[in-house]
Amino acid sequence: MSLIQILHDEALDIGYTRFGTLKTEKLEGLGTIIKGFPWIKSIIICAFHYNIYKLPEEKVSHLNFYEAFKSRFIENTLEHETAHDFESFLESKGIQFIHGMTLDLKTIEKLAVEMKIGRYRKNMHFYTEEGSHVYLHVWFTDLEMEFINDDLPPPCPDHCSRCIRNCPVQALEKGYEKNENLCINHELEIIHDQLKNKEVNFKLPFIKGCQLCLEICPYNDDRWEETIMYQENYNWLKK
Ligand code: SF4
Ligand code: SF4
Repeated sequence: MSLIQILHDEALDIGYTRFGTLKTEKLEGLGTIIKGFPWIKSIIICAFHYNIYKLPEEKVSHLNFYEAFKSRFIENTLEHETAHDFESFLESKGIQFIHGMTLDLKTIEKLAVEMKIGRYRKNMHFYTEEGSHVYLHVWFTDLEMEFINDDLPPPCPDHCSRCIRNCPVQALEKGYEKNENLCINHELEIIHDQLKNKEVNFKLPFIKGCQLCLEICPYNDDRWEETIMYQENYNWLKK
């Protein structure tokens, strides 16, 4: 079995749902990020789905799910442990790496589309086969390798325009395009980022904003599995 296949299989065994990798020599826009790391030859992206937590009912209606469970760098959380396990495996194989979580989200998502990990839908959110409740983990490595998945998830059906019709501010007028200036969530994302940079201990996940185009999408139906109790490190859940 090739090393790429071994890495792929290990990623899925650890708990990621998809794995992909591309050679960095082909990619534009990574210049400043990988400058100073001449050994970098490839970028790996793995999909971690966070639709696995039992939620306290009284909090659900106020919750911004994407912000609530982001815990790649919070110790003793499942997301952190999953990434740590994968890094330990890279180390055990003698692969040099650094994480690439400083890349902006749109760049990561576009690379994940190239690796056929997932696709954008008409609401301009990134989805894998398992829906949109996903975080993408990124590493740069010294291995020159490429792994593209076989199939993208199916596209939005032509007849579906639920997200477009129900957007309260008509930000998705045509589908596959979003007017960020209109989207209620855009401002909120900026506020989230600013507050995080200032390390403000704030009840961030409870500023829900608007998630309507995700909530009514049939590709998110029955995607919340509720198989694992939330972990104590999610301090916001205790408040
Ligand atoms: S998050 Fe809300 S406002 Fe923004 S595009 Fe989706 S439905 Fe429209
Ligand atoms: S609601 Fe329909 S059109 Fe909108 S993203 Fe979901 S499947 Fe696509």
